[in-house]
Amino acid sequence: MSHDPVRGMYDILPDEMPWWHLAEAAMREMARRYNYREIRVPLLEPTELFTRGVGEATDIVTKEMYTFQDRGGRSLTLRPEGTASVARAYLTHGWQTQAPFQKLYYIGPMFRYEKPQKGRNRQFHQYGIEVLGALDPAVDAEVIAFAWSLMEMLGLAGLRLRLNSIGCAQDRAAYRDLLRTHFAASIGRMCADCQRRLDENPLRILDCKEASCRPFIETAPGSADHLCADCAAHFSDVCAWLDRLALDYDVDARLVRGLDYYTRTVFELVSADLGAQDTLIGGGRYDGLVEMLGGPPTPGIGFAGGFERLVLVLQERSPDAVQPERLDLFLATLGLEARRAGMALATALRGLGASVDVDHRARGLRKQLTQANDLRARHLLVLGDDEVRAGRGRLKDMDDGSEREVALDPETLAELVFPPWDDPCGGRDEGGDAEGRSP
Ligand SMILES: [Zn+2]
Ligand SMILES: [Zn+2]
Repeated sequence: MSHDPVRGMYDILPDEMPWWHLAEAAMREMARRYNYREIRVPLLEPTELFTRGVGEATDIVTKEMYTFQDRGGRSLTLRPEGTASVARAYLTHGWQTQAPFQKLYYIGPMFRYEKPQKGRNRQFHQYGIEVLGALDPAVDAEVIAFAWSLMEMLGLAGLRLRLNSIGCAQDRAAYRDLLRTHFAASIGRMCADCQRRLDENPLRILDCKEASCRPFIETAPGSADHLCADCAAHFSDVCAWLDRLALDYDVDARLVRGLDYYTRTVFELVSADLGAQDTLIGGGRYDGLVEMLGGPPTPGIGFAGGFERLVLVLQERSPDAVQPERLDLFLATLGLEARRAGMALATALRGLGASVDVDHRARGLRKQLTQANDLRARHLLVLGDDEVRAGRGRLKDMDDGSEREVALDPETLAELVFPPWDDPCGGRDEGGDAEGRSP
């Protein structure tokens, strides 16, 4: 059999994990600061959730979903994005009546059957937040501020916020007509996808990247210039809130987001010093989504970003941001008695919080020392029959080479190899550990 993973799927290897942990830790920390609670929704949902929620005419639903029948004949889909599932959970748990205002975040894999290419996989990983139950423009500003703070925390500079409003359902219907009229004259010279979109969903034409289509898109009317009075007031309030928070933005009246559920505020956060002007985070308001799923009218807004891109950017921009993990102590053992004593000591030390490893392959001392070096062990203790009998050994500090005689007592050893930490974040003063440890 082949040893390759399924096309478009890939392994995230242990050496890469510190970067993932760094990005995930930043997301969790920012969620703590903004008071968003984590929700974990299933990877599988009824297909109908996405055809209704994301929209029948979107590329995701028509071309990119992993949909299959289970053994009971039900049509299921691997979630292509997180928002529809969170909105479904909102209704599942009766929050619309019990706790209608929710600030939530999620982290996890999503699945889209796209053409695999660099930086685009069929299983990819997203982080995102959702606020349900509030229409106030201050919430739009908070969601954007969260995204901005997160990117800043990760050291990404040159952030640029593209902002637009696509209005309510009525505004969108009117705007669609405006776009149809605008593109009607030139549609013959545009790409096949755009010709299809003209009838189905002309807003999607604005996302087209084809060079032949761009000139016609650049002269298209902007949605923010064609809003009803309520939506115009909402949008200008969002702008005023962003001004108050000193968050710079560029209104891009032709910015739309790919999914059908978006209403009013849409935004993208790009890092201007990424060359390609990569979008790091995209989001917007979806005031109609919960209703589309059969719930009461419920405003909502959120954003999502991809971990893969974030990890690439972090590796490029701050290659020293993470250091390999270090082991507190490696216990080299010689002979069966020493292995037995070593295992017991290691287990006791681990119980006290130290990271400890032992030899499991009864190898010679030289190979065990190489292993200790590879694991970047801070300390080494060699146990032979003499040490076990005496209950004492020599603890070597691997950084400065110094040795000291110690009792083979877990409490004493733990003090020496793993001083009690006082950093509330779980880091250690000498630095080096990107990951906090928990007791
Ligand atoms: Zn409106
Ligand atoms: Zn096109």
